Amino acid sequence: MAKRLVAIPGPTPVARSIQDQMGRETMAFGDPSFVKDYKELLDDLKELWDATGEVFVIAGTGTLAMEMAIANTLKSGDNVLVVSHGFFGNRFVEICERRGINVEVIESKWGEIVPVEDIEKKLSEKHFHAMTVTHVDTSTGVAAPIAEIGNMMKKFPDTIYIVDGVCATAGIDEKVNAMNIDILLTGSQKAFGVAPGLAILWASEKALERRKSLGTIPDYYIDFEKWIPIMHDPSKYFATPAVNLVWALKESVNIIKNEGLENRYNRHIKYGRAVQAALEALGFKILANKDHRAVTLSNVLYMDGVNDAEFRRILAEEGAVVAGGLGPYAGKMFRFGHMGNIDEHFLVSVIAAIERTMARCNIKVEFGKGVGTLLENLK
Ligand code: PMP
Repeated sequence: MAKRLVAIPGPTPVARSIQDQMGRETMAFGDPSFVKDYKELLDDLKELWDATGEVFVIAGTGTLAMEMAIANTLKSGDNVLVVSHGFFGNRFVEICERRGINVEVIESKWGEIVPVEDIEKKLSEKHFHAMTVTHVDTSTGVAAPIAEIGNMMKKFPDTIYIVDGVCATAGIDEKVNAMNIDILLTGSQKAFGVAPGLAILWASEKALERRKSLGTIPDYYIDFEKWIPIMHDPSKYFATPAVNLVWALKESVNIIKNEGLENRYNRHIKYGRAVQAALEALGFKILANKDHRAVTLSNVLYMDGVNDAEFRRILAEEGAVVAGGLGPYAGKMFRFGHMGNIDEHFLVSVIAAIERTMARCNIKVEFGKGVGTLLENLK
């Protein structure tokens, strides 16, 4: 089968050197050379993300990390404020409700953000034990102002600030201490560019104290207290580490260190803006308001009369796979992920494939307009 570019918002393309780590002969997890690699990875993750509490890297996905954040900071009967900018924001509601946590939701219209003043007003009304914010909601392509929210959170020192970074971490600037974040979480398959299978979570000292105050919690695998000894000394055993994925993530972190985090964030801004300009030049509209538009993916609204299933089927034949819309936008848009270890060739190829697809779907298109606009913006 012909190669298809993976242009969905995760998993993202996996670089050859990262694939090589997954193809290595698996070692005993107690092997000193693996223990050293795991420890180095954890130290790097703490340093690079400006964290002094703990970082956890365990087998799982972003959703597991979401549950881990909630399970270790809240108990039944506590109050949580969920700030939702779409489908993934809302996922916290069910996770919390199943635990008997009292949930209040403050929601934006899809494509917009909840103003920071509105969040502050809500937090002033009663005591919330924690608040969740999705940095980039993959369903809408909206980026929340997490640093500004973190700054406002200084007025609420007893509220744990949880940030879902699944569609942002390693692509958009996030600093645990400097942004006053208590829990930052993600999965391996997004801007780290590793295959799916790892949950990554940073916890501040404040989050760790909250965990301690809860005593024994009902959860076992995702209990911070079970993992802390292993994260300090990976030669200890709690549950088998995903050896090859740990190596793969370590290679991703090496790539990030070589590129430089700031350069990587700037590259994502350049790519994101260039892709969005190209799509607009082709006549598409982007769902997210320009002031809060994510750079890790684009949520692209179809022109009237375009059949979503047909468009995405033909685009796949032309060599690029994108994702469909979620919730109220199912059938009305496609989602193009452009995060992680991708390059300009990837972007040019996907935009060119979109142009060919438009022609085959009888959408008016000027060949080269999208690619030209993209290249102009990549200069
Ligand atoms: N949060 C966000 C913002 C996401 O985009 C996703 C996955 N698309 C998740 C959480 C859930 O992650 P996973 O699919 O890895 O469980």
